[in-house]
Amino acid sequence: MSSAENRCSLCREPAVVRLTEPERRLCAGHFIEDVEARVLGSVTREQMIAPGDRVAVGLSGGKDSTALLLLLHRFLPALGATPVAVTIDEGIAGYREETLRAAQDLAGELGVEHAIVTFADLFGEDLDAILVGRESQGCTVCGVLRRRALVEAVKRVGATKLATGHNLDDEAQSVLMNVLRGDLPRLRQDTSTGQPGHFVPRIKPLAVLSEKEIVTYLLLRAYYRDLPECPYAGTALRSEVRTMLAGLEHRHPGTMLRLMRFRGGIRQSARAAEPAKALSTCRICGELTSGEVCQVCRLLGRKER
Ligand code: SF4
Repeated sequence: MSSAENRCSLCREPAVVRLTEPERRLCAGHFIEDVEARVLGSVTREQMIAPGDRVAVGLSGGKDSTALLLLLHRFLPALGATPVAVTIDEGIAGYREETLRAAQDLAGELGVEHAIVTFADLFGEDLDAILVGRESQGCTVCGVLRRRALVEAVKRVGATKLATGHNLDDEAQSVLMNVLRGDLPRLRQDTSTGQPGHFVPRIKPLAVLSEKEIVTYLLLRAYYRDLPECPYAGTALRSEVRTMLAGLEHRHPGTMLRLMRFRGGIRQSARAAEPAKALSTCRICGELTSGEVCQVCRLLGRKER
C-alpha cells in the first residue's frame, strides 16, 4: 500500500490503525477519540451508570483493567458517579506481586481510592496452596473464588455497581465456550441487573473493544506495561478457544461481534419465554446458589457444622 493511502480517514495524518465496521483508518489522536467515544456511547446507551453510583472497578493491574480504570476515571465524574478500584490478590507467586504493584501505581497516580482483598484473608489460603495437586484446574477454581472475592470487595467498599475489564474477545470466547460445553444456563445468564441484597449490577464497558484495540490504546497513551503471565493461564479450554476464535476473526472479520449478537438474541428469547429461576442460599456460607451448597464451599471442601 502506498503511504498516500495509509492516511487517517478524518484528517489525512499518517494512520496507525485500520478498523472495520465501518472501514476506516485512524491516526493516533483520532483512534484515542474513537475508542473513548465508543466506550462512553455504550455506557450511556446501555444505561450502565446512574448519578450517585459508586463504581467498584476490578483492577488486576493487567492491560484490560488498566484501560478500564483510565476510561472510567475520565467519564464517571461527568455522569455523577465515583470510581473506587478493587484488586483481588489471589496469592500467585511470581505473578501477582508485579501486577499488584502496577495496580497500586495506577490508582495512586489517578488519585483513585483502592481496596485490596486477598484469598488468604477470605479463604484462609493462597491460590497456590489451594491448587496443590489440582494445578490443571487452576482457572476453574480461581474463577469461582475470584467471583466470590469480588462480591466481598464490593461489599467492603460500599459500591453500587461492579465494572470489569472484559473485552470483546473475552466475551466472544465465553459465548463459544458455553456452546462447546452445552451450558445453556450459563449462556443465558445475565449479571447486568444484579440480585438485590447479594450482587450489585455488573457492567462491562470494554465489551465494545477488541483486545488489539485495548493494547493499541494503552501503547498510544503510554500506559502499556509488559507484565508476567499467570503461571496457570493456558490450562483451560479458554486458551484453545482463544486461538481458534482469533483465526476465525482474521479470516472472517466480524465473527466475534456476530457471536455477541447471537448471545443477545438467546437472552432476549429466554427472558420472554420464562421468568428467572429462583435462587436459594448456601447451607454452609449463606451466599446465593442454585443448589444447596455453593461452588465455593464445594471447592474448598467446607463441611456443615
Ligand atoms: Fe486466575 Fe486463571 Fe486468571 Fe490466573 S489466568 S488469575 S488462575 S483466572
